[in-house]
Amino acid sequence: MHNKSVAELSRALEQGTVSSVELTRQFLDRIRCEDGKYNSFITVTEDQALADARAADEQRANGNATPWTGVPFAHKDIFCTRGVRTTCGSKMLENFVPPYDATVTANFRKAGAVCLGKTNMDEFAMGSSNESSYFGPVTNPWGAKRVPGGSSGGSAAAVAARLVPAATATDTGGSIRQPAALCGVTGLKPTYGRVSRYGMIAFASSLDQGGTMARTAEDNALMLNVMAGFDPKDSTCVDRGVPDYTATLDEPLKGLKIGLPKEYFSEQLSPAMEQQVRDAVKEYEKLGATVKEVSLPHANLAIAAYYVIAPAEASANLSRFDGVRYGYRCEDPKDLMDLYTRTRAEGFGNEVERRILVGTYALSAGYFDAYYLKAQKVRRLIQQDFINAFREVDVLMSPTSPSPAFVQGEKSTDPVTMYLEDVFTIAVNLAGVPAMSVPAGFIDGLPVGLQIIGDYFSEARLLNAAHQFQQVTDWHQREPN
Ligand code: GLN
Repeated sequence: MHNKSVAELSRALEQGTVSSVELTRQFLDRIRCEDGKYNSFITVTEDQALADARAADEQRANGNATPWTGVPFAHKDIFCTRGVRTTCGSKMLENFVPPYDATVTANFRKAGAVCLGKTNMDEFAMGSSNESSYFGPVTNPWGAKRVPGGSSGGSAAAVAARLVPAATATDTGGSIRQPAALCGVTGLKPTYGRVSRYGMIAFASSLDQGGTMARTAEDNALMLNVMAGFDPKDSTCVDRGVPDYTATLDEPLKGLKIGLPKEYFSEQLSPAMEQQVRDAVKEYEKLGATVKEVSLPHANLAIAAYYVIAPAEASANLSRFDGVRYGYRCEDPKDLMDLYTRTRAEGFGNEVERRILVGTYALSAGYFDAYYLKAQKVRRLIQQDFINAFREVDVLMSPTSPSPAFVQGEKSTDPVTMYLEDVFTIAVNLAGVPAMSVPAGFIDGLPVGLQIIGDYFSEARLLNAAHQFQQVTDWHQREPN
C-alpha cells in the first residue's frame, strides 16, 4: 500500500479494501523502520494519528467521507498544529506547542485526513539543502550523502521514500519546486494569495506561499482542493472561487502554447540538464503543444532583488522571537538587553542570523533607497516580464534547478553558491505567479525536474499539463532503492 497514490488510497478506503487504521499503521511502521536513514521527520504523532484514523473510519462508515477521509499525509513543520509542537526547524521553537491550527492544518483536519507528523526543513525555511535545520540534515533517498533540496526537504524526501503519499510544503523562492525536483516528486507552488498563510510561520510575507507535494499531479490537485480558498484571517488571501482541480486533469493539450524563456537556456545551463528539459518539451509537442522562445529580460536580476527583499521581510518577521513572548529564552538574563541578545544569538542558527543582518541593513534609514526601494522596483520589472510573456504563451517551461542533488557539505560553507540553486525559481515568487516541478528524467541516477510556470490563478492548467505528461512518462513512478 505504501506505493499507492492518494487517489488510489482514497479509492481503497472507499471500497473498504483497507481501513484508515490499517493504512496509518503501515505508514507509521515505515517511518519507524526507514526514517533513520533520511531524518525527514522532526516529530511523528503516532497516537494522535491512530486516534484520527479511528475517527476517519467511523466517518466513512457513517457515509460522510471526503476523498481525504482516512488518508495519511504529513505537514511541513512550518504549519501550526494545535497541541503538536511546531519548530520551523529552529532551536528557537524547539518546544513551541501552538494553541491553534493554521488554516491549512484546519482544512486537512476538516477533510478527515490523517496527519502522521511534521517534516524536517531548513531553519525558518531559509535554505536550499535542508542543512540549516536545527534537527539535522535530511538525506535524499536517491543518494546517500546527497541533499534533498530545501527548504521543504523533509516533505520531499518523505514522499520520495514512500513514508507518506503526500506532504504540505511552502515556497518563498523555490522551496517546494527545488526539493521536489531533487527528490523526483511533483510539487506545486500556487499563485500568491491562493492558499491562506494564517498559522504558517512567516519568513518573507510577500513571497511565502503554502503548496503541495506528492508523487503525481493528480494528488497535487487533490491536495490543492483542500488547501486553496479565501480566508478572512489572511489579508493577502484572495477571495476567488476554487475550482475542482481534478476536474480538468484529462483535458487534451492540443494547442497549448509553451514558451521557453531564453534567459533560462543560457550557456550556464549544463548540456545534460538542457537535454532533459528539451526531451520533456518534445513529449508536449507530441501531445499537440506548440513551442516558441520568449524572453524574461530581467530574469538575471531576480536573485539579487530577492536577497534584499526576503531578508528585509525576514528581519521584521523574526523580531517577534525576543525571549519574552514564546519560544526559546536564554538562561539567567542579567537585564532586558541581555535577554534579547543572548536569546537571539543562542536561538537562531547561522543562516537565519545572516538574513537578519542583511535585512536590517537593507532597511536602515541610510540604505533603504539604495537597496530595498531599488529591489522593489526591480521586482515590478520582473513581474511585468511574466505579464508580457503570458500575452504570447500559456505556460513557460525550464529546468527547476541548475543541477541534480548535490553532496551534503558541498555548498553549505558558501552562501552565494547556495543562493544560486534558486536561479530558475525565484523570479516566480517575486511575480507571484504559480509554478510546478514535475519529474522529467535522471542525470547520473539522480532525478531532475521540469518547471512549468503559469499565469496568475492558472493552477488548473498547470496540473492538467503535468498530469498529461505523467500519462505518457513514468519518471514520477520511479522508486529510489
Ligand atoms: N532557497 C531560498 C532561500 O533560502 C528559498 C527558500 C524558500 O523558498 N523558503 O531563501
